[in-house]
Amino acid sequence: MSRFLSGRLQSLQAYVPGEQPKVSGLVKLNTNESPFPPAPGVAEAVKNAAARLQLYNDLKSEKLVRLLADTYGVKENQVAVSNGSDEMLAFAFQAFGGGGLAFPDITYGFYSVWANLFGLDAKIIPLNGRFEINPSDYRKLDRCIVIANPNAPTGKALRRDDLMEIAECNPDSVVIVDEAYADFASRPDVSALGLAPQWENVLVVRTFSKSRQLAGARLGYAIGHEKLIEDLNRVRFSFHPYNVNALTQAAGAAALEDPEYFEKCRKAIMENREWTRAQLLSLGFRVMDSEANFLFASAPGLGGAEYQRRLRERNILIRYFDQPRIRDYVRITIGSREQMEKLIEATKEILA
Ligand SMILES: *Cc1c(COP(=O)(O)O)cnc(C)c1O
Repeated sequence: MSRFLSGRLQSLQAYVPGEQPKVSGLVKLNTNESPFPPAPGVAEAVKNAAARLQLYNDLKSEKLVRLLADTYGVKENQVAVSNGSDEMLAFAFQAFGGGGLAFPDITYGFYSVWANLFGLDAKIIPLNGRFEINPSDYRKLDRCIVIANPNAPTGKALRRDDLMEIAECNPDSVVIVDEAYADFASRPDVSALGLAPQWENVLVVRTFSKSRQLAGARLGYAIGHEKLIEDLNRVRFSFHPYNVNALTQAAGAAALEDPEYFEKCRKAIMENREWTRAQLLSLGFRVMDSEANFLFASAPGLGGAEYQRRLRERNILIRYFDQPRIRDYVRITIGSREQMEKLIEATKEILA
């Protein structure tokens, strides 16, 4: 730390992303990326866009926004795009969090980092004993509520009706629903996306990183009432109007133009999740119900840190969170079937 750092930032605990080691032959199941490459049309679209990089990118991301609106049956002014959904969440925290925030004790770690960075008061609400959100804990909070649904790192999901009830009980606050993993839900009652634009105070935030195989392109989006979208654009135009670069706009549009590929990858992940879950259960693990592209699981007779370390010795990376209540657990990203078979083989060796 230099002696010039602003006082308010000196105690800031920055977010710690999962490792991205440059070692070949690793089975990388630690950051919830897709094991599959981008849709086949993405490379060509990016190449074509690269030929025009001397120009500023389209401020409105017109094609991308139109495709998102068509894909989800909403109006174009009910959609905003961002440099990863992390950026959209940061915009939303600044736009709607002035009166304070509320989110669970166990959830996406970035929420508390942004709250500190932007100087927003955060009320932390513990998950119940089954690691679930209890909707009645979120009544009349009178502050901006942030819920990852499905939640991370548990993978458990609230019903959209419960979310809407939370929104109804907090009419003067925005409910931000982070649906980074909603595309992997096998239950049909999870996503609030279709309802959000009819609500004055529900904003759904999503990403191309997990279910559209574009983590490295950095593309997120929000869907909600046009007034909320206008507020997000006000923050964007006060910070970084050209936030979604031309290559990323092209990549995102090409991904949306190939719904069959999206569907194929999504289904494969969901099938691999159920296969892996059954394998882990038969090895004596505790595994939480997951509607996401990862499993939150606890190895029999082995703490999370130890299980992670022993998989690492076998070149398999998973994520452990050194945090109260969840030290027995690890988060395992669902990869290809071959990767999951390697995980199970290594786990059998470790348990033997
Ligand atoms: C991965 C993730 C994000 C961020 O994704 P981006 O890569 O920034 O789009 C946001 N929320 C949750 C819960 C996530 O797991």
